[in-house]
Amino acid sequence: MYDTIVIGKGPSGISCALYLKRAGFNVLVIGKDGGSLAMADYIENYYGFAKPVKADKLFSGGIKQAENLGIEIISDEVTDIEYGGGISVKTLSAAYEAKTLLFATGRKKKSAPIRGLKEFEGKGVGYCAVCDGFFYKNKDVAVIGGGKYALAEAEYLKNIVRSVKIFSDGKAEKILSESFDGDIINEKILSIYGGQTVEGIKTEGGDYALSGVFVALGSAGAADFAAKMGLETLGGNIAVNKDYSTNIPAVFAAGDCIGGMAQIAKAVYDGAAAAKTIISYLKSSK
Ligand SMILES: Cc1cc2nc3c(=O)[nH]c(=O)nc-3n(C[C@H](O)[C@H](O)[C@H](O)COP(=O)(O)OP(=O)(O)OC[C@H]3O[C@@H](n4cnc5c(N)ncnc54)[C@H](O)[C@@H]3O)c2cc1C
Repeated sequence: MYDTIVIGKGPSGISCALYLKRAGFNVLVIGKDGGSLAMADYIENYYGFAKPVKADKLFSGGIKQAENLGIEIISDEVTDIEYGGGISVKTLSAAYEAKTLLFATGRKKKSAPIRGLKEFEGKGVGYCAVCDGFFYKNKDVAVIGGGKYALAEAEYLKNIVRSVKIFSDGKAEKILSESFDGDIINEKILSIYGGQTVEGIKTEGGDYALSGVFVALGSAGAADFAAKMGLETLGGNIAVNKDYSTNIPAVFAAGDCIGGMAQIAKAVYDGAAAAKTIISYLKSSK
């Protein structure tokens, strides 16, 4: 059991982990990739660098700094979180337990520009298999997505619904074909259609009658986890109090996923300030 699991190995997650570890707490960082810094080129406005610094150098420097302190960092994608007596953070291959959790998952993802997707939100289009899967008992549903998150959502739905097809929009990752034993439709999606509610998906290759569509594009982001856990959101970001706590005890959030200025300096500060709150929380619940 870790004192804290941090989801995200960008500036905010690593900053929080550094403060927690230096205060003597047992912290695990799980991160999928380089987050926003992987998309940036040179950084010219962060303190302490006389010349522009390559964003990937800043990112790998943060990782190395944490590892040098003995912080455990796992490169994996979190697909689900269970909140009960403790907190269980799940990837496709493992589950990790902790007393507290920090979301440092970065900016919210863009939704896909699929015709009908917005129109049918709440009318057959959903974003959380755990929350809404039950409503599709014995019905035919789709999961839209091409990676591990889509796979995890489809696997969850399989036990409830009559059939589940994964629509990858032509972008299926190898893991899907290797691990999913249902239908994977690798065709470009033209639209989600229906009347009062969803009735199907049209692709370049066919027309598939369906009662529900679960969107699981890319990896699960702040909004997806929020929906699963009942975390309050504000404009798609995780809503936090001044001390970075959320509406759920033991769950905190920092960095780009809580909104505000999307800058490294702010993400680093958030991580450090969230660590202060987490430390108080852990000490008071001993
Ligand atoms: C193109 C571009 C240029 C930029 N230029 C600048 C600049 O010049 N100066 C500046 O100050 N800021 C700049 N920024 C913004 C800056 O990069 C961000 O504000 C900062 O990286 C936010 O840090 P963060 O830790 O909150 O999130 P991120 O750095 O985005 O890290 C998020 C982490 O969460 C992980 N994650 C998300 N979902 C999951 C999941 N399901 N499972 C596991 N891990 C997950 C990601 O893999 C990643 O490790 C730029 C951003 C972009 C996109």
